[in-house]
Amino acid sequence: MPLDRATLDRFLETVDSFVAERLIPAEAEVDATDRIPDGLVEEMKRLGLFGLTVPEDYGGLGLAPPEEMEVAWAVSHAAPAFRSAFGTNVTIGSQGIAIDGTEEQKRRYLPKMASGEIVASFALTEPGAGSDAASLTTRADRDGNGYVLNGVKRFITNAPVAGVFTVMARTNREERGARGISAFIVEAGAPGVRLGGPENKMGQKGAPICDVIFEDCRVPGDALIGGVEGRGFKTAMKALDRGRLHLAATCCGLADRLIRESVDFALGREQFGRPVAEFQLVQAMLADSRTEHDVAWALVRDAARRAGEGEPIARLGAEAKYYASEMVGRVADRAVQIHGGSGYIDDYAVARLYRDVRIYRLYEGTSQIQQLVIARDMLKEAGGSPP
Ligand SMILES: Cc1cc2nc3c(=O)[nH]c(=O)nc-3n(C[C@H](O)[C@H](O)[C@H](O)COP(=O)(O)OP(=O)(O)OC[C@H]3O[C@@H](n4cnc5c(N)ncnc54)[C@H](O)[C@@H]3O)c2cc1C
Repeated sequence: MPLDRATLDRFLETVDSFVAERLIPAEAEVDATDRIPDGLVEEMKRLGLFGLTVPEDYGGLGLAPPEEMEVAWAVSHAAPAFRSAFGTNVTIGSQGIAIDGTEEQKRRYLPKMASGEIVASFALTEPGAGSDAASLTTRADRDGNGYVLNGVKRFITNAPVAGVFTVMARTNREERGARGISAFIVEAGAPGVRLGGPENKMGQKGAPICDVIFEDCRVPGDALIGGVEGRGFKTAMKALDRGRLHLAATCCGLADRLIRESVDFALGREQFGRPVAEFQLVQAMLADSRTEHDVAWALVRDAARRAGEGEPIARLGAEAKYYASEMVGRVADRAVQIHGGSGYIDDYAVARLYRDVRIYRLYEGTSQIQQLVIARDMLKEAGGSPP
């Protein structure tokens, strides 16, 4: 439900203070230790960040897409590992249940996700199925009243701390594509669930990922999301549609932070007897970054408004995620350039953020996959029959 403007503004002010006073000062420690201190996670829970999108009836704030994106933008002025700590609860980890779950599934899991009592992860990718997610081979075989899962999921965000997974698995072995896939809620403590070792990532230290391995993992029949087989791929895509918009807002928030860091540095650093900000070649970099940020943010806000009005957002989400993730890569590159050699040194936030933002062009659909989603929709609109 949309919040009134004054309430949203108050919430955003609280988030801004939290980012400036608690998160940004902890960035270097999180990068060095690859871990967010428990106390900060507790503060995020108290602020309500884990339940931003969970409907109010289930204990969340129930933010509509335009409000959610404003909060994602604000939080993303801090290193993105912080947003990732609650990000799966707000987007792909909870949305499958929120959109397609049965009433009982919603009542059982959403309040705990909203409060942060449990972390929710989304398990779609496999060693052999990334961009071609519909080719996944994890099996869920019927067994009495329940199912038995076998397979490996790869690169699953927050898996090491997750209490529950949304797992896409094949219930119909005859059907090799999307129609044979169902979505399940699997609790992390269920017998037959095992985690792989931690991955040493290029960036976003403190945002853990690992494999999730299912070995004869038995789940009850009511673990099937929505109680209907064969709809799991659609459920996953619906969760990803809103998730992509959220990631696009995240990219915009990070770009704004990078631009602010660049302006501050350029004003303070002197060469040839004056601040480097006075050199027009530096100003051109600042202007390009600001303009590209504003374009991306306008795209995200327009898509969020239309999503809030009930328009389908598969293409809009893909456009926003594609443009914003490429944009923040260019902005981060310019930020390092403006900082000169200092931009290559980890004492400066831009060096860390440069590595952190690289992931956005890869997960929840690579840039190439977003291009395909956009072009396919364009061709369909024009009456063609794209592959
Ligand atoms: C830090 C991190 C966190 C992640 N979190 C999660 C998570 O929580 N849950 C989850 O399920 N997954 C997660 N992933 C997985 C992520 O979504 C995939 O890595 C991503 O979708 C790409 O799949 P892939 O790695 O198999 O690359 P591939 O699909 O093998 O792609 C390799 C290259 O081929 C290109 N390519 C592939 N197909 C086409 C095509 N048809 N046309 C043109 N180009 C193509 C790709 O764009 C890419 O450039 C995460 C990954 C990382 C690194």
